[in-house]
Amino acid sequence: MTATRIEYHAPSTLAQAVALLEEHGHAAAPLAGGTDLVPALKHGVLQARHLVSLARIPGHREIAITADGGLSIGAFATLADVARSPLVGAVCPALAEAAVQAGSPLLRNRGTLGGNVCLDTRCWYYNQTEAWRASRPPCQKAGGQQCYVNQKQNVCVALFSADTPAVLITVGARATLAGPAGERAVPVEALYSGEGLQPLAKSGAEILTEIAVPAPPARSGTAYLKHSPRDSIDFPLLGIAAAVALSGGGTIASARIALTGARSAPCRLPELEAALAGGPVPAAGDRELAQLATRSLGALFLTDAVPHKRRLAGLMAVDAVERAAALAQGWRTR
Ligand SMILES: Cc1cc2nc3c(=O)[nH]c(=O)nc-3n(C[C@H](O)[C@H](O)[C@H](O)COP(=O)(O)OP(=O)(O)OC[C@H]3O[C@@H](n4cnc5c(N)ncnc54)[C@H](O)[C@@H]3O)c2cc1C
Ligand code: SF4
Repeated sequence: MTATRIEYHAPSTLAQAVALLEEHGHAAAPLAGGTDLVPALKHGVLQARHLVSLARIPGHREIAITADGGLSIGAFATLADVARSPLVGAVCPALAEAAVQAGSPLLRNRGTLGGNVCLDTRCWYYNQTEAWRASRPPCQKAGGQQCYVNQKQNVCVALFSADTPAVLITVGARATLAGPAGERAVPVEALYSGEGLQPLAKSGAEILTEIAVPAPPARSGTAYLKHSPRDSIDFPLLGIAAAVALSGGGTIASARIALTGARSAPCRLPELEAALAGGPVPAAGDRELAQLATRSLGALFLTDAVPHKRRLAGLMAVDAVERAAALAQGWRTR
């Protein structure tokens, strides 16, 4: 670990925090639970020299039902708060399923929903100690010139691997950002640039303050399935969220499916969504639909497990749809 001077700021209002982030520009980062940021600093991959803590800013931690039956979740709420909230369980059970599968109890007690949504992208060559990385020049994301994964195009393809955003995207959640020009709300899907080096499509001085989940449509259900290399604490090799609404006749009125762990942003599967709309609820393991999902995923740039991950994505997507549809019909599948 390299000893570097880091200035810690503890503003007591949101406006002060935004002003500090604006003042220090690229050298500053918001610090929430620190469960991802601090390891990145220790490994010497993150260059932030000013940490702007969100801990003393009041509010933005509450979880409440909105007037229209949706959810308002303060971005500073911990993943543990989200996972155990009966309101989240009632309105968007897949969000609770995703939150409870992120990291360990200790990490969920400290890590926030905002930090999870704003998580940096990850890569085998980047999320390593300085000693591990010392054998070769730094890659692009660590301030160097080359990419060791996508060597042909030499473009960073580090993976977005947070658990909750795929769910938030499938349910059409919106994020509120406080920045130098005031507040703005955007669909969570629009928060991601798709670029490995700068994964968030927001200015560095903007702070995520709230996630708004719309009221679920009638006869709808949500599900989140996670596959990780280990059963214990691990980022998803692949996470798949589905939100399904059924018609009165029991066919699929609409389906939204999003993946995490496959690209530099959470991604939708529009071909599968279109193929499902108007049709019957698929059976888990439906090979034809699974193949369609696999094809629509296109090429993946990964350090390992590419064929495995592509096949898995197809199968898991269909399983997630089947589970969300079962919940929409009022059946508990597990
Ligand atoms: C061993 C280990 C296992 C983990 N496993 C998982 C896992 O399985 N799934 C998973 O999703 N995550 C996992 N994580 C990552 C992390 O714990 C969570 O994603 C957590 O939710 C991050 O929240 P935080 O509050 O700690 O964020 P921080 O570490 O404080 O910040 C993360 C990033 O978000 C930015 N940020 C934080 N809050 C805001 C905000 N309100 N507005 C704007 N930017 C903000 C920070 O500047 C930083 O870039 C793991 C981490 C570790 C160390
Ligand atoms: S994808 Fe390439 S540039 Fe990006 S973190 Fe990995 S090795 Fe570095």
